[in-house]
Amino acid sequence: MIKVNLRHLEDQGIRLQGEMPVAALDLGVNDDLIRTEKPLRYDLAVELLNDAVLVTGSLTLPLACECSRCLKKFTTDLKLAGWALHLPLEGDDKVPVENDCVDLTPFVREDILLDFPQHPLCKPDCAGLKSKTARPPKAVEKPAVDVWAKLDKLKLK
Ligand SMILES: [Zn+2]
Repeated sequence: MIKVNLRHLEDQGIRLQGEMPVAALDLGVNDDLIRTEKPLRYDLAVELLNDAVLVTGSLTLPLACECSRCLKKFTTDLKLAGWALHLPLEGDDKVPVENDCVDLTPFVREDILLDFPQHPLCKPDCAGLKSKTARPPKAVEKPAVDVWAKLDKLKLK
């Protein structure tokens, strides 16, 4: 878990750096094409505002993927580079504080899931499997040719 001790923030901001086992993140993602095998890396600056905690920094989660078009295996990083989190300590939306600590894990989980790829691609313009290389223009022309062929047949009758 990534926890912030509010007492440590009283004098000055702190920096949190480290790794968290992906199991602790409990992403609940069950996808054949994307596997999370390596720990989440975080590098965060935490500071105490008047009535809130401000967290900024980066989250990186290495993913082992299978391209959804060509089935090639590849690895990529799910990276939230300019991650920012504003956690109110007062009011209706205030975050739970336990023993002076705020647990950042649920917020990390939520934002990682929001950014989780749905259809991983080995590269943005992956052409897919070679056996079914589709050429869109030709596919569009073909029905038209069929229509003319049918018309020709009709004329012959
Ligand atoms: Zn591919």
